[in-house]
Amino acid sequence: MVRSREGTARRIRELLSTEGGPVEENTLGFNEYLGDRIAEADVGVTGANFVTADTGTLALVTSEGNARKTVVAPDTHVAVAGVEKVLPTFEDLRPFVELIGRSATGQDITSYVSFFTPPVDSPSIAFDRADAPISEDPPDREFHLVLVDNGRMAMREDDDLRETLYCIRCGACANSCANFQSVGGHAFGGETYTGGIAGGWEAGVHGLDAAANFNDLCTGCSRCVTACPVEIDVPWINTVVRDRINRTGDDSNVDFLVEGPTPRVSCR
Ligand code: SF4
Repeated sequence: MVRSREGTARRIRELLSTEGGPVEENTLGFNEYLGDRIAEADVGVTGANFVTADTGTLALVTSEGNARKTVVAPDTHVAVAGVEKVLPTFEDLRPFVELIGRSATGQDITSYVSFFTPPVDSPSIAFDRADAPISEDPPDREFHLVLVDNGRMAMREDDDLRETLYCIRCGACANSCANFQSVGGHAFGGETYTGGIAGGWEAGVHGLDAAANFNDLCTGCSRCVTACPVEIDVPWINTVVRDRINRTGDDSNVDFLVEGPTPRVSCR
């Protein structure tokens, strides 16, 4: 189902207004509600923007700070990250963390940037005993890191889809895309990510059928190419995906003029 961005925004406004009162107040109320649910949880599950191989550090870059509450409030933390999120060293984090903020929202740094090297040894907090000094609780924490492949290692061997793995999920390509601005992420995107680069992600992770649901929303205008901080040629990836989609099924009645898409001028 193709939805419009305006329609999605209207539904969110309606949802935030269901309790009556101004949307701003309700938003704060939802924030408190979410904080209470996190405090009650036995297990906190987060993603990770990056994971460093040398120190085992997780970098969480968020706008709301809920992820870091989720790490420290429950006793058990499960972090789930794609294998492409692993960086060699802690020193490698800095340029990537800076790129996310600058490319996503234009900030020098995102509102909440947290580095955790599990197991976190701060005491877990007994929210039901507000009077208990935190320092008296001995640390009793568990940590699990789930590294997800789901087609990513195969993408690494794919000369055309490999660039997709460079994506740091800043959203700059979506923000610069006229079609995305019209229809929004429910129509232009998949389960892995949203916007133009989602064509590469869906093709690699869920297959060509999933990518075919929205691949033609990329018109190849190339505005996103200059917006992307890691210089991914998003329209090229969508051209490759579209060519592969067109070659699936019964092509006995189709006479292709060339084998594969016309090579781009500069290959990285
Ligand atoms: S493709 Fe580039 S611009 Fe788009 S989300 Fe990924 S890193 Fe950001």
